[in-house]
Amino acid sequence: MKIHVNRVPEGGLAERARYNPARLDMERNDIRLREPFDVEAKITKSQRELTVAVEIHCVLHLTCARCLEEFTQAVTPTGIFSYRVLPGDIVDITEDVRQEVMLAYPMTSLCRADCKGLCPTCGQHLNTGTCPHQPEV
Ligand SMILES: [Zn+2]
Ligand SMILES: [Zn+2]
Repeated sequence: MKIHVNRVPEGGLAERARYNPARLDMERNDIRLREPFDVEAKITKSQRELTVAVEIHCVLHLTCARCLEEFTQAVTPTGIFSYRVLPGDIVDITEDVRQEVMLAYPMTSLCRADCKGLCPTCGQHLNTGTCPHQPEV
């Protein structure tokens, strides 16, 4: 989203933009973004500062670190960006939006907190079944 400082009125401005993640290099080896995501921005300006408050709506496709199943998770990170500006400047918030989304990535991708993962011996998916290799509970 590019913001023309001169076009932001005194009372501020609300904008929406849709980003195509394929162009933004934001994937991690266990996280993919398969669909465009939306950004809502509230833009205000004072003398020399542009303030952009964003709410981002994004769906992550993750691979569980334990069972390797793919699952989706919606994240809605918010952020407030400030830019020093001069009249006539054009501010591109794309890089800040990108970083905000990546900060919302989970440290470890787990399909559920108690995911039992796969048996290291036979590969049985332990969320859905059992095998003889597990210690008795
Ligand atoms: Zn899992
Ligand atoms: Zn097993």
